[in-house]
Amino acid sequence: MKDQMLNWFENKGIQPIESIKVYEFLHSIKGTSGTLELDVIYTLSSKLLHKVENRTEPWPIEELREFLYELMELSYDYEQFTLNVSKAARERVVNVPLIQIIDDDISILIYLKDKLESKGWMVVASTEADKAIDQYYNMHPDCIIIDVNLPQKSGFEVLYDIQQHSNRFFVPKIMCSIKKDRATRLSAYKMGADDFISKPIDIEEFLIRIERHLERKRIFDQSVIIDELTQVYNRKFLQDSYNRFISEMARTNTVGTVAIIDLDYFKKINDTYGHVMGDKVLAEFAQYMKKSIRNTDTLFRYGGEEFVILFQRATEAEVKEVLNRMLEGFSNIVFNEGEKSFSLTFSAGIYSIEHQNIDLQTAIKTADEALYLAKNNGRARIESANKMQIAPTKKILNVSIVDDDALIRSILITTISEMSFDNLAVNVQAYEDGLQFLSSDRLTHPGLHFLILDGVMPVIDGLEILQQVKQLSSKQEVHVLMLTGRKSKSDIAQALKFGADDYLTKPFNITELEARIMRLIKRMIQ
Ligand code: GH3
Ligand code: MG
Ligand code: MG
Repeated sequence: MKDQMLNWFENKGIQPIESIKVYEFLHSIKGTSGTLELDVIYTLSSKLLHKVENRTEPWPIEELREFLYELMELSYDYEQFTLNVSKAARERVVNVPLIQIIDDDISILIYLKDKLESKGWMVVASTEADKAIDQYYNMHPDCIIIDVNLPQKSGFEVLYDIQQHSNRFFVPKIMCSIKKDRATRLSAYKMGADDFISKPIDIEEFLIRIERHLERKRIFDQSVIIDELTQVYNRKFLQDSYNRFISEMARTNTVGTVAIIDLDYFKKINDTYGHVMGDKVLAEFAQYMKKSIRNTDTLFRYGGEEFVILFQRATEAEVKEVLNRMLEGFSNIVFNEGEKSFSLTFSAGIYSIEHQNIDLQTAIKTADEALYLAKNNGRARIESANKMQIAPTKKILNVSIVDDDALIRSILITTISEMSFDNLAVNVQAYEDGLQFLSSDRLTHPGLHFLILDGVMPVIDGLEILQQVKQLSSKQEVHVLMLTGRKSKSDIAQALKFGADDYLTKPFNITELEARIMRLIKRMIQ
């Protein structure tokens, strides 16, 4: 602010300043101050902006100086201001419950998302059934809230679809509807809904009910160590087993090997044959592996389609042989779906533990690096971390920011560059307009992509970029966070319709944005 004003006023010239320049200046100050929660500046710049909105004639220097006087004063007051964000506070907000809402009524959607977020929960919202089903499988929400009346597919169909999956998983499913007649309620419960909330919603009661559901879900999760879908141990049991694995190694003076296994192109199976078939493949794959290992080896479902095996008393070479045999056997299994049939492969990374002071996290991380190498080397293969000559390249997360406001860009670059994730190298790049971004080859860079798009921009607006990105990258996964204006309901509706994964209304707060990005990314890579 100071630089710009000094530039105008110290510059002894007598040239009047174009009105658009003043407008842009105030617009940027308003946006940034809102984001940084500099409330006084925000209020003042909003007021000034409002006054210049319709002005077209240039500003004589003297008049402008007088007009901006208060802002000048404030800019000196704020000079000592430093951004002070507590790292500890950030950590806490990352592991919060994730709630999914599906409602085509955008006002209600925005309202509920706001309320749920103010309880400290994370929310993914969507207006379309198909996008919602996809999100459900990708993001593993802790609770799902479905409106009965949706345009293409009814809420019941959504419930039915995810129920195929979650009659095995304990995810509270809440239906809500303006229709609260007995028949609707009964069919909701019959179809597996855990709760039914009628509209208009009593928000206080709604939040309490959701809180109770989340509590029960947490207790349930804590008490279960067998994965319901695949019938093998879940990752909660991994730490205990690993401790025993290590002490057994020490006691018998033997070597043990950790393997991490991930199905190849599994997303395609879901996309082509549906999630129900995907589930069937997962269950069968787990059983196949269980059958192929000794009973001193332990198998875990580590994540969606990722498994971990602790091979007791087995060297790297032995495990490699076992896994190669499994790979061959499994890739010969033919799955049938109607007329079509398919088969699939997996990749694995292994790591033999030669010292008992290697902890679980390190072991998994190292094996995962080898898995990444296996994927890079063409999939359907096993790579060993012990053999890796060069330090493995980390997975890359490309974060791209498209925003015409230079201040927002530099703040985002700084905060995102400071984030750190295990096993993930973050590469940030900012673009001042959509053309620059779209004409770059950014999206062809290997790795995951996370896109932060400003909704309203001069050259191409965020919504249009979003549409183009979704067309370009149907295969590649790109997660999109839209920044929208506080009151632009229709923008939010459009953004969700075009496939944005989340939105944040401006002026946003940096801590909140950071937490949001961290959570989305954690869910992306889990
Ligand atoms: P890659 O070879 O690189 O591993 O490709 P991929 O398609 O397997 O990619 P990735 O591992 O990222 O995709 C995992 C997919 O697994 C994403 C998600 O939709 C799906 N998934 C995760 N959990 C479940 C589940 O419980 N059931 C079903 N049906 N799908 C799941
Ligand atoms: Mg995979
Ligand atoms: Mg995976």
